[in-house]
Amino acid sequence: MLSVVVPIYNESLNLDGFFARLIPALDSMGEPFEVICIDDGSRDDSVARLKAKNEADPRIKLLVFSRNFGKEAAVSAGLANAIGDAVIPIDADLQHPPEMIPEMVAKWREGYDVVYAVRRERTGQGLLSRLQARAFYWVFEKLSEVKMPREVGDFRLLDRKVVDAINAMPERTRFMKGIFAWVGFRQVGIPYTQEERQFGETSFNLVRLLRFAFDGLVAFSDMPLRMWTVIGAVVSGFAFFYIVVRLIRTLLYGIDVPGYESIIVIMLFLGGIQLITLGIIGHYLGRVFNEVKGRPLYIVRERLGVEKPKQS
Ligand code: UDP
Ligand code: MG
Repeated sequence: MLSVVVPIYNESLNLDGFFARLIPALDSMGEPFEVICIDDGSRDDSVARLKAKNEADPRIKLLVFSRNFGKEAAVSAGLANAIGDAVIPIDADLQHPPEMIPEMVAKWREGYDVVYAVRRERTGQGLLSRLQARAFYWVFEKLSEVKMPREVGDFRLLDRKVVDAINAMPERTRFMKGIFAWVGFRQVGIPYTQEERQFGETSFNLVRLLRFAFDGLVAFSDMPLRMWTVIGAVVSGFAFFYIVVRLIRTLLYGIDVPGYESIIVIMLFLGGIQLITLGIIGHYLGRVFNEVKGRPLYIVRERLGVEKPKQS
């Protein structure tokens, strides 16, 4: 059995077109399947439309969140509630072509545990956002031990083993891309061309994307915490060198009083570095605080056709 997991946030206009392509693609394989839709606190009539879909076809199931918890939480909920032998998270905005699913399933049958879809090019995106994405992958690769394939979104097929491994991960901050890579297993990518969003706009603006990227880094690397030791050592090295220079100068030429600029510059520079360091420690501390609180990742308001999962 296959489970398809669809996070949905204000996708009312996309739903009909999405299911019109998804269901035939799944039917064509002649295997049983379920489609778990997670409504992530939509403010349009997505829920009503999804309920109608569920009534017409009980294979379309629905989880309704009590508010917007974010896409990562929605995908986590889908993974926790899916009962299939393979699970496929996919976006509802038709940027991920459902017609690729049979191809993914074929790769899975060949013995791969994770089959991810690799974007060929980013259509409908400006140069700026492409540069941002590149910069993020570059920094992530440099800082983290996890090898995260580039240009890969959440559209992928996960074997039951992998889903169980992910469900067993207790962390609250879910950076799915990173988690998918972290669990390992035999992975393979197949290329696809990402289409433009059918209706509506992406809900990830610059601020949200930056926070997302930073969260991802903090979740998968402690480099930002540790690098200050090295920076501190380098700055101290320079300081020591400068102290020697000043001492010799003072001994040879006596004391020259002017020096106001250099003192201010050095103080401001070091003050700035210390604030950045504090901010970064604060970020990790906030993360620890969130984990310690141990709140649930999401709250489900309504279930249609989805049993409560046994664990958690
Ligand atoms: N989404 C969600 N919760 C959110 C934001 C987005 O469930 O808070 C869903 C959205 O409905 C879509 C998918 O996540 O199915 C991807 O969202 P979007 O297209 O806005 O992101 P992008 O494709 O730009 O990364
Ligand atoms: Mg999208």
